[in-house]
Amino acid sequence: MTRTDVIVIGAGLAGLSAARDLAAGGADVIVLEARGRAGGRVEQTLMPDGRPIQLGGEVIGDSHTSYRQLVAELGLTIVPSFTDIPGDSTWLISEGRVLGDDMTWMPAADRARYDELEQRFAALAASVDPENPWAHPDAVALDRLSVGDWLRSEGATPAVLRAMELRTLALADPSIWRRSLLADLRKEATAGATGFYDYDAWESAKVLEGSATVALRMAEELGHRTRYGSPVAAIDVTGTGVVVTLATGERQHAADIVCALPAGPLRDLRITGVSEPYLRAATRRQHAPAAKLVTVHATSFWEANGQNGTGFFEHTLLGGTWVQTHGALSALVPVDRLGPYQALPAADREAALLDELVAAYGEEARDTQAVFVRDWFADPYTQGYITAWRPGDLTAVGPLHGTHEPPFWLVGSDQWVCGYMEGAVRTGRGAAAQLLAR
Ligand SMILES: Cc1cc2nc3c(=O)[nH]c(=O)nc-3n(C[C@H](O)[C@H](O)[C@H](O)COP(=O)(O)OP(=O)(O)OC[C@H]3O[C@@H](n4cnc5c(N)ncnc54)[C@H](O)[C@@H]3O)c2cc1C
Repeated sequence: MTRTDVIVIGAGLAGLSAARDLAAGGADVIVLEARGRAGGRVEQTLMPDGRPIQLGGEVIGDSHTSYRQLVAELGLTIVPSFTDIPGDSTWLISEGRVLGDDMTWMPAADRARYDELEQRFAALAASVDPENPWAHPDAVALDRLSVGDWLRSEGATPAVLRAMELRTLALADPSIWRRSLLADLRKEATAGATGFYDYDAWESAKVLEGSATVALRMAEELGHRTRYGSPVAAIDVTGTGVVVTLATGERQHAADIVCALPAGPLRDLRITGVSEPYLRAATRRQHAPAAKLVTVHATSFWEANGQNGTGFFEHTLLGGTWVQTHGALSALVPVDRLGPYQALPAADREAALLDELVAAYGEEARDTQAVFVRDWFADPYTQGYITAWRPGDLTAVGPLHGTHEPPFWLVGSDQWVCGYMEGAVRTGRGAAAQLLAR
């Protein structure tokens, strides 16, 4: 049995950023990664002309300070994302294809009600401590309520509910009727509690060299410390440290373990020696599954029609689109659309998604240099997309969320407020700092 100071499981952004800091702090660390590559939910491919195309996580926001700090340390460049591209958004809705930047399809009275409710939501979000939402005097009640139920109870009109659901679909989040209000409030409290999901706070920037390059740079720095093709099957915390058993039966011993797996794969591990309440909380977390489509074209042809590439799709498989980079559109199949998506023969799915892009952007959308479809929901080492909280979930997981039970350290985007690359880096580096300080 091999011995080391710290074993990190998972070479995603969380595991790599933890391992990088641990190694820099003088720890003897190894990373065990199931796949043959680093990055986990950030993954990219290069077009022949050099454009890096992201098949997983892409954009970050103003408040993503841990991620920005890491990017600066790695010598990479932050640039604006799609949010400041001029032009009209495309609404593919019951009325047909409507162009307009700001929900022009909504009657003025409904739009006013939407704004009013957004202010109320912001005020309520400001009353939630993102570090400790459970301390809110109405935490249990707010968690039991869905976002949709709260909106309805506050007088949301059908058009307002529809607008919220359309925005939800574009983000590939679970429906407003299946999301905890407290979790949404906590998320927006983290970003300054300015209102409903604010694209500037969450999506206004990206890494010029490609978001997956952040992971690849760290993996490069770690070199031989990362072992690929090494799926872990079991973790046993003992009185003298931790024993990790790989799927092959090989065993490794360490003083501490940093477990950096998404919610689904974490449930697949056999874990002993960790307290029952801690393990229950850790495995109670959920992911919203999704699939991603990226189409690469010679030009950003949509701009000639006054379209900015941001789309909100009401009745399709795709929930919406955004511009990933020059000539490339990204889109997600959200959790609520995965049923009909999976019901299609696998060979027909890509064509079905392209038809939807054509409905939004015209026949030129068929003229592709490359098309990528990534079924993240079906990937055994991801089993999802981004953290999701159903009504009641935040209370069920409780304040153990984001904590550790040394020598078992649990990191990853799901251990932060709501997922995202920021959550991965923040929890990875946070745990490494605490571990080194012990
Ligand atoms: C399509 C898509 C779009 C997204 N868009 C954005 C975005 O625009 N902005 C944003 O901030 N976030 C986005 N996200 C989320 C973001 O990518 C993730 O939250 C973040 O990358 C997760 O990092 P992580 O290290 O916590 O987990 P992961 O990246 O999932 O890393 C976990 C690692 O553990 C490995 N692993 C799993 N099981 C085992 C095992 N048994 N043994 C060993 N290794 C194992 C996996 O292979 C993986 O490498 C997106 C995600 C997806 C899928």
